[in-house]
Amino acid sequence: MHPDKPHEIDIVKTPSSKINSVDFDTLSFGSTFTDHMLVCDFREGKWGKPVIKAYEPFLLDPSAKVFHYGQAIFEGMKAYKDEHDDVWLFRPDQNLDRFNKSAVRMAMPEVEDWIFLEGLRQLVDLERDWVKKGLGNTLYIRPFMIAVGSGVIAAPSTQYRFMIILSPAKSYYSGEVKVIIAEHFSRAANGGIGAAKAAGNYSAQFYPTKLANEKGFQQIIWTDDATHTKLEEAGTMNVFFRINDTLYTAPVSERILDGVTRKSLIALAQREGINVEERSVYVDEIIKAAKDGSLKEVFGAGTAAVVNPIVGFSYQDTYYELPKLDNSIALQLKDKLTKIQYNLAEDTFGWTV
Ligand code: PMP
Repeated sequence: MHPDKPHEIDIVKTPSSKINSVDFDTLSFGSTFTDHMLVCDFREGKWGKPVIKAYEPFLLDPSAKVFHYGQAIFEGMKAYKDEHDDVWLFRPDQNLDRFNKSAVRMAMPEVEDWIFLEGLRQLVDLERDWVKKGLGNTLYIRPFMIAVGSGVIAAPSTQYRFMIILSPAKSYYSGEVKVIIAEHFSRAANGGIGAAKAAGNYSAQFYPTKLANEKGFQQIIWTDDATHTKLEEAGTMNVFFRINDTLYTAPVSERILDGVTRKSLIALAQREGINVEERSVYVDEIIKAAKDGSLKEVFGAGTAAVVNPIVGFSYQDTYYELPKLDNSIALQLKDKLTKIQYNLAEDTFGWTV
């Protein structure tokens, strides 16, 4: 913080909390929100004072640019509570960094570091009772920014709103995940916005994912838009393939989101002596490896589920089933990462805050 310019956040507490009306055992992901939220407006070229206040709806002009031109970005992260009631964030600097990269790509202003980090700290601290102890219980954190300036003219807004909302969550279990390899649709293209956490990237995935769901698959493995031969992401997660004892994952690029879980798993795997290669992974080699038995595991990696094992995949109407392993690398890495996040294992990387 700058000594001459104290960074202050106004806190207006709600007189009544709704926490006692929430059943923490039956939470459905992303649908319950805590008592407070953080709001900070950008006007006339600068950020105003952030305010933490009651979680509530707000009014926007129907011509607000977010509704018409989709200037909207977000982040997804979590807070975890340990046995001593201390609450931990996991690599929030990485989310801030990615958020501001997304902002630049969408012609939005970068949020000041202290507004994001100090806002996050004070909001989560105020809502610490909403973070429940025990593995699997988390507080999902959703920072986001939208263009609130009015006018149906296709140009960037001059007014923006940055917000943070919080949602308590139980451990994320998606059931068995079967995926279909994309042969036509793409989530991102070179020169596009795939590396940004921009709202439009997600709505663009809904239709192809709906078609995949209708065929009995939960997610799509996205391939490169130019040739559909490189495997890039799984649904809204980065994707890893284990062939024999090596893990492969695509390098981050303009088309791939730089996942915090992905880079943390790579670092953990390397520390465990597991061979990891960041290189393009081709559909052909995965099919060949599935046929000769050297493809042992495929899993998605992301904040929501940490690791999401994939049981099989379909390509050109042929289904390939993956072996059922008792001691998968996916679950070993998940266990190690989760223990760091909950302060149950020593954090030699200095990731937790
Ligand atoms: N790829 C996409 C497209 C995502 O939306 C996400 C986040 N859900 C990820 C990868 C994983 O990123 P992280 O590990 O930072 O959650």
